[in-house]
This record gives sequence, C-alpha cells and structure tokens, in this order.
Amino acid sequence: MNAPSYDTDVLVVGAGPAGVAAAVMAASLNLRTMVLEAGPVGGKLHRISSLENVPGSWSTGPQLAEALAADLERLEKAGRCTVVEGLAAKTSGHDDRAELALDDGRVLTAEFIVVATGVTDLAPADAEWITASPDFFAPPLWRATPQELTGRTYVLGGDRPLGTWLRAHPKVTTTLHVLCPPADTYKAAEVEDDNRVRLVPVSHAAITKPTYGGGWTVTVNDQDGTKTIYAAMSVLNNLGNKPAALGGLVSGEDGYCPPRQQHRRIRIAGDLRSARYQRVATAQGSGAEAVLAYYYDTALPGGGGIR
Ligand SMILES: Cc1cc2nc3c(=O)[nH]c(=O)nc-3n(C[C@H](O)[C@H](O)[C@H](O)COP(=O)(O)OP(=O)(O)OC[C@H]3O[C@@H](n4cnc5c(N)ncnc54)[C@H](O)[C@@H]3O)c2cc1C
Repeated sequence: MNAPSYDTDVLVVGAGPAGVAAAVMAASLNLRTMVLEAGPVGGKLHRISSLENVPGSWSTGPQLAEALAADLERLEKAGRCTVVEGLAAKTSGHDDRAELALDDGRVLTAEFIVVATGVTDLAPADAEWITASPDFFAPPLWRATPQELTGRTYVLGGDRPLGTWLRAHPKVTTTLHVLCPPADTYKAAEVEDDNRVRLVPVSHAAITKPTYGGGWTVTVNDQDGTKTIYAAMSVLNNLGNKPAALGGLVSGEDGYCPPRQQHRRIRIAGDLRSARYQRVATAQGSGAEAVLAYYYDTALPGGGGIR
C-alpha cells in the first residue's frame, strides 16, 4: 500500500502566539509546515496596548505581532513554511490523515493538525444579564481612544481588557462606569482601587434608546434587586470572549476544547484549551509543545507513532 500523501506534515490553524510558536517549532524540526490564518498574524496581540508579562523587551502587543509576522516571513522565504489565507470551518481526524475544511470549500490534508484559533468576542446578545434594543451596538473598549470618550461612559462587563486599557492610558481622567455581573467580580478586582473606575454591581441591565437626545438609557437592577436608571453618552463592550472552536472538535459544556479529548491527529493549543490559561507565554508554550509531542511520537525515526 502506498504511503498517504498529505498537503503538509503539520497544518497549524491560527497565527496568534500559539500558532506561530507551533509553526516555528515544526519548521525548525524540518517538518513540512503550513499555517492557515483568517486575519493578520499575531491574533489578539493586536489588542494589547500595554504588555508586561512576556519574555523579551516588548511593551505592546503589536510590537510582538510584528516580530512574529517577520519570523513567519523568514521561514517562508527559506522554503520551510507556507502561510495560507482562509477561514477554517471544520476539522476531522482519520486513521491515515487529518483534514481541514475551509468555508470556501477548499480541503487541506495533513498528517497532524494544531488548532490554535483562540477565542472570539462575546456580543451583548450572548450575555444573559443584558437585554438591548435591536439597533444597539457597543464598540469594544480595547479599541476606544480617550478622545472618543466624551460624556458619561458605561462599560459592559469587567473583563481583563479594562485593566490593560487603564494602564495604556495613564493620563485619562474620564470615569468609566463598569457594569459588573457577579461572574466578573474577581476580574474587576485588579482595578477596584483605580479612581477612574466606578464598579456598578448588576444582576440585569436593559439598554434602550432615550425618547429624546442621543446616547442610551441604561436601566440597571443591582444585585439586591434595586432598579436605577442612567443616561449614557457611550456604552462600550468589555464582555469577554467565547472559544473560537471549529466544527468537528470535541468541546466541553463551556465550549472550550480539552486537548486530551481530541482525535489523536488533532492537537489544541493556546486560548482555545481553557479559560484558565489565557496568557501569551502559556499560548506560546502550548503551541511548541503540541508539535514536539507529534515529533517524538511519529516523525522522529523510532518514534512510537501517533497515539
Ligand atoms: C485586550 C487584551 C489584553 C491582553 N493582555 C494580555 C497581557 O497583558 N499579557 C498576556 O500574557 N496576555 C494578554 N492577553 C491574552 C493573550 O492575548 C492571549 O492569551 C493570546 O493572544 C492567545 O494566543 P492564541 O494564539 O491562543 O490565540 P489568538 O491570539 O486569539 O490567535 C488566534 C488566531 O486564530 C485566528 N483564527 C480564529 N479562527 C480562525 C478560523 N476559523 N480560521 C482561520 N484562522 C482563525 C485568529 O484570526 C487569530 O489570529 C490579552 C488579551 C486581550 C484581548
């Protein structure tokens, strides 16, 4: 029987910190490497306006993203990696190969696939504690510039980008009124002493258009059931995220994809693994580790074969 022919040995889905680490590791081991990415190389790094906890002298995420893009470009030029643009839809593992179906109908095959698609933004419609007018749209807090915050500003949710945004804009004096459901209390704790933040504990918030004027009316039920009505000039989204899982992956009740529960030819790396490890350095470590596990199992002469 002929050996199966694949488009590539290792197919990496997603070029955030986890996917790039996987690709760099695979290329350095002389494995044929392909990276599929739907957007710019760097993933969520593009949102980190102030970066402190990553090895190296990076002070912002975009600086590191640029370095990762240069790394992939260098590998492409050396013929050790191919970067393909596209949106992955579904992955599947088979006895002799792993497959990835793209939303445009293309299908890529590999001996082994690393899925590192991270997480995607939650919208107000995803949050049980919010009801909103159909025309309501909340721009993301992480993208807001201080100049845009004119008038009373409300923030939906106390997710971690709040702390990042405040650190990135130390001179801003605007008060952010942060609607904080019980599940976000522990995340908002890091900013509770910042006098530019007013945490508003909520059990429910309704957002409607005011009868007169611009902005939004925000009706808040606090955690004791007391109702208060606020007038907001702007409302920003800081609700957090949900796993960007592909079709065909095994996921838990929370939507994350436990690495050990997938087909033996499919590994999960980075933020998609669990809400617990969402940091650049752990994402990079897991990307490299996924490829090393494959290498020692299979590609290395004498390896035990993909288990
Ligand atoms: C505002 C903010 C601030 C943060 N601050 C810090 C910090 O200070 N320190 C820190 O350590 N961490 C921080 N983080 C977390 C850090 O950014 C993540 O842990 C890290 O980026 C995860 O890397 P990843 O590769 O798993 O996922 P991502 O960075 O999310 O990359 C996933 C990639 O997959 C691509 N993708 C997704 N779906 C598909 C698909 N279907 N097909 C093709 N491509 C797809 C995306 O376009 C993206 O490029 C912050 C995150 C945010 C949002």
